[in-house]
Amino acid sequence: MNPDVNVIPVKERLTNTNILDLMKNYDIVVDGTDNFPTRYLINDACVMLKKPLVSGAILRFEGQITTILPGDGPCYRCLFESPPPPGLVPSCQEAGVLGVLPGVIGALQATEVLKIILGKGKPLNGELLIYDALGTNFRKVRVPKNPDCAICGANPTITKLADYSQEYCTL
Ligand SMILES: [Zn+2]
Repeated sequence: MNPDVNVIPVKERLTNTNILDLMKNYDIVVDGTDNFPTRYLINDACVMLKKPLVSGAILRFEGQITTILPGDGPCYRCLFESPPPPGLVPSCQEAGVLGVLPGVIGALQATEVLKIILGKGKPLNGELLIYDALGTNFRKVRVPKNPDCAICGANPTITKLADYSQEYCTL
């Protein structure tokens, strides 16, 4: 709709072999993916490239969003150390998702991106915002940085990107 916006579609799956190349030309990453291997891959790549990441997730009647500023607060692995075992968390395909949730969470993610670009306000780094659509509640949870985090901690054990889909079944 905006003639000044240039959308560049990439018609390939995001993998550990192409993600760093794809991301290097962008200033901010917005994650709206629907599976854990990709979510962790994006987090780890953003920490390695020191790129801001605005992460959003939705399931059933709830959505959550957080902003990761590498070097300034926790990363996604500080919040959730590793993906849940396959099958523990149902996918949107299995459990469903309220149709308006991508719009609500997406608009909040876009707001975070604008705040980062403009240098205005306080980004959601170090906090997880949870939206409960049924109760119409927004709740913020403070998230500390994990000094032992495998990717952004003092002694990271993840030093190169792996194919996480081999370890964790795609939801
Ligand atoms: Zn971390």
